Amino acid sequence: MSPSPDSPRVISCAEFQEHLPELFGGPAEGVAIDPALQAHLDTCENCSALVRDLRYIADQARLLLEPAEEEPSDNVWSNIQTKLKIAAAGDEPV
Ligand SMILES: [Zn+2]
Repeated sequence: MSPSPDSPRVISCAEFQEHLPELFGGPAEGVAIDPALQAHLDTCENCSALVRDLRYIADQARLLLEPAEEEPSDNVWSNIQTKLKIAAAGDEPV
């Protein structure tokens, strides 16, 4: 039995996992992945679960590495200043 040239070749879990770095490789993000890998991902529960886990880990890592655009401490500090001003205005004669 020979696979038709139109359908992606069938690969094993081991072969799929060898290509995992391609799925997560930096500059290749957004680039279409190998149809054989995608086909395996669509049909193999083990590997799709694995990819889900790895994506989750990669997302968490990105959150840790990326500096927050907004510094939450600024908001906290200005809230404290506002409260201090209110307290000062209420308690002390100016
Ligand atoms: Zn698999």
